[in-house]
Amino acid sequence: MLNTGEWCKALTSRVENVSSTNSWRKSAQELWDGEPRLHAISRRISGRHNTSVTNSNNISMNTNMEAQAMFAPPAAASPGPSAPPAGMFDSVPGYEGTVIGGGGFLPPPMPAYPAPQPSPGPDQPTWNIPSISEETAREAFILFASSKCCYNSSPAKDGVITNMEAFNTYRYRLETFTESRSTEWTHVPYHGQPADAFTQSPPGPWDIPAKAPSFFADDKQLIKVPYTSSVKNCHTCLGMARQPCKDCSGAGNKVCWVCNGSGFRHGDDRCHHCNGRGRENCGRCFGQGSKQCDTCNGKGQLLVYINLTVKWTNNSDAYVVEQSSGLQLENLSKVSGKELFRDSQYMVYPVMGFPDTSVVQASQRLVNDHQGKFSQSSRILQQRQTIELIPVTKVTYTWKGETHIYFVYGNEFKVNADNYPATCCCSVM
Ligand SMILES: [Zn+2]
Ligand SMILES: [Zn+2]
Ligand SMILES: [Zn+2]
Repeated sequence: MLNTGEWCKALTSRVENVSSTNSWRKSAQELWDGEPRLHAISRRISGRHNTSVTNSNNISMNTNMEAQAMFAPPAAASPGPSAPPAGMFDSVPGYEGTVIGGGGFLPPPMPAYPAPQPSPGPDQPTWNIPSISEETAREAFILFASSKCCYNSSPAKDGVITNMEAFNTYRYRLETFTESRSTEWTHVPYHGQPADAFTQSPPGPWDIPAKAPSFFADDKQLIKVPYTSSVKNCHTCLGMARQPCKDCSGAGNKVCWVCNGSGFRHGDDRCHHCNGRGRENCGRCFGQGSKQCDTCNGKGQLLVYINLTVKWTNNSDAYVVEQSSGLQLENLSKVSGKELFRDSQYMVYPVMGFPDTSVVQASQRLVNDHQGKFSQSSRILQQRQTIELIPVTKVTYTWKGETHIYFVYGNEFKVNADNYPATCCCSVM
């Protein structure tokens, strides 16, 4: 059970016990080893299978390969519409709001069975008061000074430590792992893929099985929605498979850059570049005036279908208890602490009975926030809450008769010394 006196003592106690560094490390290790394994998510896989319907229509491609006449007048540029017209997409039951470029996220349906109720987390483990030794504080300080290219390391090496004071603090963190789904119309060049639209009604966006995600790791999966694929004429080339060349506006040739179209240089000298013709072959389309359509890869047709994007996101928020050491709280976001408490389940229940009431309040607020915010547009798959004890030690030392301070914090023994007395190596030698 908790001992309130011990909790509070950790916040202000002086660091005296050198040997407790090891027992602190040991107990942190035991915490990690004893971490309960996360439950594998059991996903309901609907028994649907993708029926392949092969479209056997062979399409005669109008490739328009014959080269244009050398002196053909330049045709007006007609690049064609770049975005597919809305009429190109079928109306698919259950996917009516789907547009090209992606719509909003699809809210998950109401669960068919009552959601499991969150239950209070595991009991508080016992723990030791972390402390660092004078030697550790000095080593961390020397390392810090030598990592700064200009700093003179003599304050770190020769400074005399006069006081070490612990300002350990707590960090509460809540992570909510969510799955969200969105759909969009998309297309690829058609080369005989099955076109299955209207052979069956497609499964709902939240009924399509996705891979089992690993909890608390961001990930994404793209899934072609079954029974939405159909073959359409390419909107860019209007089914012609080729597009007018942009470089020569479809003419296959352009004004000779050497003689600027006159066919002559320096008076009566005939232009050698174009043999006096005034025009030269277009290098981009090799004189053909057209090139293969990029949209359909020269196929003339597209397979049009709905893509489902399944996105897994770990949403994390943290609260750190303010302490009066003078060290800015944002420094602590870069370090880890000793994990005192860990609770991972489908939905967590706010932490109860923790001696620091501001942690209890932060837990209630964040759990409330997350469950309200993330259950609207996504599906919550798992939550995890942790409480870490972050060691913060304020070290006072004297160097050349003056008193200075620095902080050593986190499991990493990170150092903060905003008023380091020798920040330029050349001035203090
Ligand atoms: Zn020329
Ligand atoms: Zn061209
Ligand atoms: Zn095309």
